[in-house]
Amino acid sequence: MFAFLLPFENAILECRMTYIVTDNCIRCKYTDCVEVCPVDCFYEGENFLVIHPDECIDCGVCEPECPAEAIKPDTEPGLDKWLKINADYAKIWPNITVKKDPMPEAKEMDGVDGKFEQFFSEKPGSGD
Ligand code: SF4
Ligand code: SF4
Repeated sequence: MFAFLLPFENAILECRMTYIVTDNCIRCKYTDCVEVCPVDCFYEGENFLVIHPDECIDCGVCEPECPAEAIKPDTEPGLDKWLKINADYAKIWPNITVKKDPMPEAKEMDGVDGKFEQFFSEKPGSGD
């Protein structure tokens, strides 16, 4: 999370930016991303990872590491749903900082449409 404050008369405007994980991570979960994060802000579900928006420092180094191209800056339009999913599950899933094997079906699932509706699991992963 990158935050800065802008004085505007007596009001304080806080502007937050973060990277988030989106649909194509589901049932791929390659975990290449976790190894490069300088602040260890990835959290692991059973078949998906999320980024904690309040911990992400918006450095962007994880985005090109994702083989599934699932990591996006939340400044891209239409990602409000994914920002909420990342924020909600980062609070309850375990932290992951070490790469592990991808899901067995990762290759077949890469690029499948509508993974969230079909396959998203609320169950936590095992973390580190
Ligand atoms: S590298 Fe991409 S697909 Fe793999 S766990 Fe990270 S976000 Fe998910
Ligand atoms: S690598 Fe950087 S952009 Fe990606 S989750 Fe970590 S702090 Fe955020």
